[in-house]
Amino acid sequence: MAINPIAKAGDTSSALPKPHVPHLGETVRVGPYEVMAAGTMYDLDDRFDDPNVVLVPLTDTFPGLIGQEYHIVYAALPDYGGVPDNWGEFLKENILPRLASGQKLLAFCVGSHGRTGVFLASLIALLESSEETPDPIVAARQRHCEKAVESFAQAQGVFALRGQPVPAHYRKSLHR
Ligand SMILES: [Zn+2]
Repeated sequence: MAINPIAKAGDTSSALPKPHVPHLGETVRVGPYEVMAAGTMYDLDDRFDDPNVVLVPLTDTFPGLIGQEYHIVYAALPDYGGVPDNWGEFLKENILPRLASGQKLLAFCVGSHGRTGVFLASLIALLESSEETPDPIVAARQRHCEKAVESFAQAQGVFALRGQPVPAHYRKSLHR
């Protein structure tokens, strides 16, 4: 019987899903970059006030303050829905260049699970190879939250970025 090699430092391929905690904008690795992930059900005022942060609302209920200026890349998705047809183009044209230029992005929805989960898993799908990260949803759950990605349509949106079908087990475990 082969002996399992000792995992290299930083190798998270076998990591367990990360237990849920309040999502206040903790950083999540996506490829060579990091993005911050949050939910508006938590108090994010300090995060929204940071002028160096580019906000990526994945919800159409952005709780901004009157008179406050924000830098927003609007990307509202339907709750429990999928992603638009141009999702991949949007990420490649509007998000990846910002990450490459070092902008600090704060992505958020309400709970930070479904829509923020699909955003994170989608970036992982685009930035990491299938060999490196076979399942971007598993990776998003290891790095962000065990509840990341809620609906089958969201899972389809993630795997479509790689031209792949959704693994069959997600048909049972995700909302249809
Ligand atoms: Zn969570």
